[in-house]
Amino acid sequence: MRILVDKKHIQNRIGDVAWEIDRHYNKQDWYKNTKEPVIVLGVLSGGMFFMADLVRQLSIRTEMDFIRVSTYPGKATTAQKPRIIVEPTKLLHNAHILIVDDILDTGKTLGCVKEHLLYPHFPIVQFRPASIQTAVLLCKPGKAVNNMTADFVCCGIEDEWVVGYGLDYNGRYRNLPYVAVLE
Ligand code: 5GP
Ligand code: MG
Repeated sequence: MRILVDKKHIQNRIGDVAWEIDRHYNKQDWYKNTKEPVIVLGVLSGGMFFMADLVRQLSIRTEMDFIRVSTYPGKATTAQKPRIIVEPTKLLHNAHILIVDDILDTGKTLGCVKEHLLYPHFPIVQFRPASIQTAVLLCKPGKAVNNMTADFVCCGIEDEWVVGYGLDYNGRYRNLPYVAVLE
């Protein structure tokens, strides 16, 4: 196993990104003029490690919720279409949502979550969040479909299969405190 991003670098970058997120929301009129929290929506299971560290570095008002998306078994990458398998528990109508996931690769997962939040009862469109932002720990460049990007990214990495810090290989290695390439 080769360490790609070590623990200290991850923590430093999460601190930087938390600062950017604070700054983004502190500038929004709704944030200044109401007492509403930002709903930090973690994508289970991989996103919860990054989320736990991120929220503890944020100064803005937050509440937390989770969504579970079907993941690729093992190392398979393409063809499968992600689907929502556990819904958030909060009513997200008019909410300001920050989606937090481990990695942006093809962008299908974030795309699926975003679309689901925007059109949960399509074609009845009365139920809509007020805003959606996205934050990921890692981003692999150049592979995203539909121009999917994340608003906040901690580290860009090469196109290699990584594990650790939430990312697994057949269910293992999620708890590693660093990001590594399986060899
Ligand atoms: P996307 O839908 O953007 O292609 O990929 C997002 C999801 O695929 C991530 O949430 C993660 O579950 C999985 N994934 C993508 N790349 C990797 C990787 O390098 N390692 C691991 N363990 N999972 C990955
Ligand atoms: Mg995932």
